[in-house]
Amino acid sequence: MTAGLSAFDREVIRVLREGGVLKDYTARGRNGQIVVACSDGDQMKDLILHKWREAIRSGRIFRPHLFCCHGGAMNVDPTCTLYPGMSRNLLEQIRQAEGVDLKGITSVNLCIHAPCGAASMTGMTILHQLWHQYRAAEEVSMIDSTNSIIPTIHVDYGVEGDLLERAESSVFKDAATRIQELADELGIGILIPLLDGHRRRTYHVDLSTFARFWESTGCQQWGHLFEVEPMQTLTTGLGFQMHALA
Ligand SMILES: [Zn+2]
Repeated sequence: MTAGLSAFDREVIRVLREGGVLKDYTARGRNGQIVVACSDGDQMKDLILHKWREAIRSGRIFRPHLFCCHGGAMNVDPTCTLYPGMSRNLLEQIRQAEGVDLKGITSVNLCIHAPCGAASMTGMTILHQLWHQYRAAEEVSMIDSTNSIIPTIHVDYGVEGDLLERAESSVFKDAATRIQELADELGIGILIPLLDGHRRRTYHVDLSTFARFWESTGCQQWGHLFEVEPMQTLTTGLGFQMHALA
């Protein structure tokens, strides 16, 4: 079982939220999304549901073309040591999914999440994960200059008292059962998820703002966590696909 969100990661998330690096996720993608995400079955339901709801709200098609592996989008970065060689494989599959012969999906969602067992097993903080995500975005931007790249981070803040109270209340449970029964009767394919008391959020990661934040203050504060200064590990830059609100 993955340990909860570390105090350090929680603090970094707070700072990055204040700094405008992590923004509330809103639906992106014209014709679906190629999604590279961690396999974590404790988070998958929320990851899917949240994005599904946002897609419906914005009138977009919900069409996740999923590639799942431990650590998610970090593995797209060739320098990620979780599963050596996986980057090439993932990039090839993303390239195929973008191609008109297969799916023709033009948006690539690079997901990381916290707490992530794959990250913590190898001693990574959320900052290490973000830099892997940054280099993953560089790689994906080289596949096709017209694709759009959507970096996101999913955060499980753990159990919160008021949410747990609601999840355990008979009012909620009875309502969920009744709505589900009605949906089943009508033949509407919906599932009412039972809450587990955790507060979870999906954020859009503004990687350009992250790089500026790192240069101005982040490096001074947290640069000692890296053997090589992360800005020096970048290769091609992000390209304009990062700014495309597709
Ligand atoms: Zn994970």
